[in-house]
Amino acid sequence: MADGTSVKPAFDVVAVREQFPILKRQINGRPLVYLDNAASAQKPRAVIDRLVSVMENGYSNVHRGLHTLSNEATEAFEQAREIVARFLNAESAEQIVWTKGGTEAINLVANGIGLDIREGDEIIVTEMEHHSNIVPWHMLRERKGAVLRWAPILDDGSLDMEAFKGLLNARTKMVSVTHMSNVLGTINPVAEITRLAHAAGARVLVDGCQGAVHSIPDVQAIGCDYYVITGHKLFGPTGIGALYGTMEALEALPPYQGGGEMIETVEKERITYARPPHRFEAGTPPILEAIGLGTALEWLSGFDPAAIHAHEQALYDRAAQRLGELDWVRILGTAEGKGSVLAFTVDGAHAHDVAQIMDRYGVAVRAGLHCAEPLAKRLGVTSSTRASFALYNTLEEADAFADALIKARNFFV
Ligand SMILES: *Cc1c(COP(=O)(O)O)cnc(C)c1O
Repeated sequence: MADGTSVKPAFDVVAVREQFPILKRQINGRPLVYLDNAASAQKPRAVIDRLVSVMENGYSNVHRGLHTLSNEATEAFEQAREIVARFLNAESAEQIVWTKGGTEAINLVANGIGLDIREGDEIIVTEMEHHSNIVPWHMLRERKGAVLRWAPILDDGSLDMEAFKGLLNARTKMVSVTHMSNVLGTINPVAEITRLAHAAGARVLVDGCQGAVHSIPDVQAIGCDYYVITGHKLFGPTGIGALYGTMEALEALPPYQGGGEMIETVEKERITYARPPHRFEAGTPPILEAIGLGTALEWLSGFDPAAIHAHEQALYDRAAQRLGELDWVRILGTAEGKGSVLAFTVDGAHAHDVAQIMDRYGVAVRAGLHCAEPLAKRLGVTSSTRASFALYNTLEEADAFADALIKARNFFV
């Protein structure tokens, strides 16, 4: 650090907020308190400006032309792939496949793995998975007779590791587990899970759609075969996500969709496919979206991850402490080291009503099943309300959230 090049500026939430134009909005006459970050994060000026700039100055299709604009667009697009590779600590950019989001990335893997799945083969998921990491495997159950096995959670919302170990056996082909729960906030020991699964001969997919936002994702340290991110929760555009795979694991997958750009040669009687990652990128890719995600990750890398983490933790702790004082509120998920996602139920009130009334006070929270219906069943709730914090939220907003909840309560008693 002597030369100062790796020193990042101290975390200044006011300065961070300045970079998000939308945070100046009023909602129902009050300042917006945006606490729906686990559903989608807002976009910094850097990303907005980059998208406009590419469209105004450097836009074209990629890979096709030999003209200047095409070359510029291709360079920016492939540079974004390299940024994602660095963000995930992948060995090479060739291990990064663009997808339209986390959901498509998981479907791509499930579809490819499916070729090798025989009736009775087992796939382990956990009770805390997002539907995106459940339904593609259910479809393999329907199509191929695969058996879904569910690793249970403990009452604090952490994974029951002993039970998980008990599920592994010679029939286990795949373990697909979330890095961080989008409801409980639980961060799973994915390196340990990977080690155990590999010892049983299974492949491992880690759903990092939340985990990559709240921890530093390091695919080499985790050791997983596949890791999935989605751009719009990482302050990037919608319509873009990425699948990381070890080269061996990517090469084990057949093409997902057929079309331009994913082939080597096409003849009337035969085709040969391109190598990963292009094998999985049929058609014109989401060019602007990929470049925008690259910009978002570059922007994010300007902060000290430990400072972001400490800030988000303080927001969570403040909100959880305030809700802890309310005997009519139940917080879902109290696992140690959990991320800044706070889901809760309110006695005598439906989550949707809670969220709608909080909106009157400018507070944006999500309500419902949060795409995790098996988890809701396990927790014995029909729905919950969720506040999820990002680096641009403030302690004042955590208080405004708790205050709005207390006011909302008056509508129900
Ligand atoms: C959001 C989310 C997904 C799905 O991502 P999309 O961007 O909707 O495709 C998958 N898993 C988790 C844990 C998520 O939070």
